Amino acid sequence: MGELFFLKPVLKEMIWGGSRLKTDFSYDIPSDHTGECWAVSAHKNGDCEIADGMFKGQKLSQIFKDHKEFFGNIKMDVFPLLIKIIDAKQDLSIQVHPDDAYAKIHENGALGKTECWDILDCDQDAKIVIGHNAKTKEELEEMIANNEWGRLIREIPIKKGDFFQIEPGTVHAIKGGTLILETQQSSDVTYRLYDYNRMQNGKPRELHIKKSLDVIRCPYTARKQPQVIRPYQDALVEELVTCPYYSVNKIEVSGKADFKQDKPFTIMTVVNGDGEIDGRKIKKGDNFIIPSGYGKYELKGDLSVISSYVPQLV
Ligand code: ZN
Repeated sequence: MGELFFLKPVLKEMIWGGSRLKTDFSYDIPSDHTGECWAVSAHKNGDCEIADGMFKGQKLSQIFKDHKEFFGNIKMDVFPLLIKIIDAKQDLSIQVHPDDAYAKIHENGALGKTECWDILDCDQDAKIVIGHNAKTKEELEEMIANNEWGRLIREIPIKKGDFFQIEPGTVHAIKGGTLILETQQSSDVTYRLYDYNRMQNGKPRELHIKKSLDVIRCPYTARKQPQVIRPYQDALVEELVTCPYYSVNKIEVSGKADFKQDKPFTIMTVVNGDGEIDGRKIKKGDNFIIPSGYGKYELKGDLSVISSYVPQLV
């Protein structure tokens, strides 16, 4: 046993953001252009505070530094994951992330970024950008130089419940009318390829064409892991992805189900409904960490949770 770490989210304004982080998730948003909730983060650009208990008011980065025992003594200098809830009222820029090796050299030792998206909700005709249609780097360079974005980018329709793993080097963009839970490596390194010629405070946001060209994989190949759903007690557990950086599951409970925390630590976000964990009330929008060695726990109620953890041997 031990105690659960409930976190206070960090909310961020973005030119493409909206107000659903308040209307859907009851977060206290700074404006109706709020794009991101950093729900579980120890990143310096948005370090979550512990909401209550023994460590109330302390930053997650500090606890991670001082108390590795709560995190399975994993051998990492920084808390490895970052969970965001994203409200894209408008299109996000078309972008790409580097892998660890490139980021280490070109971004002062930062982590690269592998990320994945669970589509929590979206408009009827919503789409996302994932991948591109250039067959070679030369063709890619040419299409970018000639502003042939329509031909270059690969857009696909989405629906609620879809899941996408975005490997480093994959051109991608969340499009307007989409609410997403993103699980990613704790990194803020993004190379912006195209921003629809939008202005922010009177000027275009910076683009990073050279670095984008360095890291974009050519040609793009779509890969999809099969999604496995298994019934377990009064729950359905959907295994969304396992990669070298994280495993992500969706757990839908109607009734109750017992689980065992046998990972270095487990992160949970309640994305729908409400209920209890070990008798403590939880509701949509709550984010918490179940520490190492916590043992058995019980989820009860009518709720959906997205959970993530890092592999045992990091
Ligand atoms: Zn991204």
